[in-house]
Amino acid sequence: MSADSLPAGSLAVVKVAVAVPLSRVFDYLPLGQLKNYQPGARVLVSFGPGKKVGVVLGTGVSELAPARLKPVLQLLDTEPVLSEEIVQLVEWASGYYHHPVGECFAAALPGLLRKNSNAKPVPPCCYQATEQGKEAEADMLSRAPVQKRLLQFLTSSALAVTEGECQLFDPRWSAPMKELLKKGLAEKVWPDYSTLKPKAGFKLNSEQEAAATAAADRLGSYYPVLLYGITGSGKTEVYIDVARKVIERGQQVLLLLPEIGLTLQLLARFRSALACQVVAMHSAMNDTERLLAWQAAASGDAGVVIGTRSAIFTPMPGLALIVVDEEHDGSLKQQDGFRYHARDLALVRARRLKLPILLGSATPSLESLRNAKRGNFHLHRLTARAGPANEPQMILVDGRTGAGEQGLSQRLLTMMQEVLGRGEQVIVFINRRGYSPVLMCEVCSSIADCENCDAHMTVHARSGRLRCHHCGAERRVPVQCKVCEGTKLIRVGAGTERVDEVLSEKFPDYKLLRIDRDSTSRKGELQRHLQMAASGEAQILVGTQMLAKGHDFPNVTLVGIMDADRGLFGADFRSIEQMGQLIVQVAGRAGRARKKGTVLIQSQNTEHPLLHKLLDEGYSEFAAQLLEEREHAGWPPFAYVALLRADTKETSGAQNYLRQIAELAGSIPVAQSSEVLVLGPAHAPMERLAGRYRAQLLFVAAARKPLHQLLAWLRPTLEKLPSSRKVRWSIDVDPHDML
Ligand code: ADP
Ligand code: ZN
Repeated sequence: MSADSLPAGSLAVVKVAVAVPLSRVFDYLPLGQLKNYQPGARVLVSFGPGKKVGVVLGTGVSELAPARLKPVLQLLDTEPVLSEEIVQLVEWASGYYHHPVGECFAAALPGLLRKNSNAKPVPPCCYQATEQGKEAEADMLSRAPVQKRLLQFLTSSALAVTEGECQLFDPRWSAPMKELLKKGLAEKVWPDYSTLKPKAGFKLNSEQEAAATAAADRLGSYYPVLLYGITGSGKTEVYIDVARKVIERGQQVLLLLPEIGLTLQLLARFRSALACQVVAMHSAMNDTERLLAWQAAASGDAGVVIGTRSAIFTPMPGLALIVVDEEHDGSLKQQDGFRYHARDLALVRARRLKLPILLGSATPSLESLRNAKRGNFHLHRLTARAGPANEPQMILVDGRTGAGEQGLSQRLLTMMQEVLGRGEQVIVFINRRGYSPVLMCEVCSSIADCENCDAHMTVHARSGRLRCHHCGAERRVPVQCKVCEGTKLIRVGAGTERVDEVLSEKFPDYKLLRIDRDSTSRKGELQRHLQMAASGEAQILVGTQMLAKGHDFPNVTLVGIMDADRGLFGADFRSIEQMGQLIVQVAGRAGRARKKGTVLIQSQNTEHPLLHKLLDEGYSEFAAQLLEEREHAGWPPFAYVALLRADTKETSGAQNYLRQIAELAGSIPVAQSSEVLVLGPAHAPMERLAGRYRAQLLFVAAARKPLHQLLAWLRPTLEKLPSSRKVRWSIDVDPHDML
């Protein structure tokens, strides 16, 4: 009997996750023996007119008629590249986030493995300083500043550094490195971990000790710790202390952090403290480097993996501890495609593997604070700054009065003068790049708007362009009003460029460094800027939230925060929480060393009760009040929510589509019983973005289960619905924002 005439369900098949926007798993006939197809191995399969790489999820029988089944084209891995644990984690995440399983696996795999390559990468060589380089006189390279900095970077690293790390350090590293090699100051080597002599750690203070011991004593069991410690209180030393015990047992540590900008600092600290291979994983690495790091983790060779979001999917056979640093940070949530939250998946992973997990933050998320309050997390607080540092003093000034030049208050300017005069550094923080957010006609008051979005164009004076910060549209700064043809156009408000201009004029004797997305858009440029800030090469640092996060500038003693309170009236339910976190994080940059720091906060709303709560009583009280408000309003973490977003080119296409879905959803039992509320459709806070009209449907439930029942119905329904083809739609579970 030929296979074609067999009834459905009679042939054994391989179940494959293929990266397409469909929730289904696809069946293929095995090539060779079925038992060779282990979960986590990759296969090449034909799909539609082309070929795709998929991941084997298992074997079974197919419900399809045999005639419709195609054979696997090639089994790419004899040993699975993903461990069973990761296969299960990704499948779980696919179910939880209601995202197509094949796309989830694509997100979990390093780039090279997503392709049909049997990549066996060659380890790139590393660089280290030679003896001669280490002893080089300070003034030897005074005419070659990049070489000098690069050499300092090499001598201060515990281990030889990879090309990727050099790239992160300074994007222009390549030619100067060649010079250093030529001069015999640096050499190429292969790293040797057996020779590492880790530095002894600090003696932990009693709070640090309590937190570290709690976690270290629970190795081998699920034990979530919220490590709530102000900036500089020594959270990182706690991570290192527990990690050391894990490494001594020959096991592995995974550390997640929100930003690649922070990885170099952490890498250096972990490398000098631990006798093991520490690898990084982030988007600034090229595919080969990433795969190498991934393989070092998957083989168990690397003791520590430090990575951004997607590193949560790294197979680590000896994983014994997970750390999530800056756990409150929104960057841990993927904002498009597979919208997972790395912190939440880390908790799932820790629970499944029975591991302690440390969630660290100076400003914990409301979710984590509530978990601590309910006893789901063990709360450990670090209340004092470790080492010699002091808590900064906070001063609130009214931005409406006495605000001199472009919103910079006289008080700030006077204090800057004093601090700079003492040879210390200042940070001026303004969370808005460009010159001014509004270009207005003095005659008719009309404002230059984006043609594709419901938004004003921002003036970028350096480039002479108007830019939309939402869709990226740009045009020349006009000389005439479009409406009345008036020629007097005024720039209203200030962004980093303008603050830069004003301060450069006021303080011509000091070097000013602007740190925002525009000034650091080239790869590695951010790292170079941060280095210049840390080394004291620049004394005035003007920047956006890029400056707020985790960086250590010991000589900064004054931080000015301009319009700190924009978040008070933000469109999103998290705006105020994020404002509070940002203020505390920026403030944490002041007084990290021996010198006392001051934070000057300019506000247009000096009487706002929440701002006072934050400044007078601290983040805990502020967060407690916000939690109360969220409970009252029935918002997360007191409710579970998901968003269905849709957008179309037509004005009301998305709204009409979502109205249809809302109606369908209304007939689902959990909606009829009001266990899940279907709210909307409403247009998005900014309805028109990049020429598309956006709307959203909100699902709110008091419990997770009914919400997921509804979503489990929703996804396949939408995939089948003909009207879905005319819109762009996406499901976001536990959305980070509603924007
Ligand atoms: P956080 O991660 O909470 O911002 P860090 O771990 O970076 O804090 O510590 C801040 C500073 O204090 C660092 O320079 C660190 O080396 C130092 N430090 C931390 N713990 C101790 C300790 N127990 N004794 C002395 N110095 C410490
Ligand atoms: Zn736009």
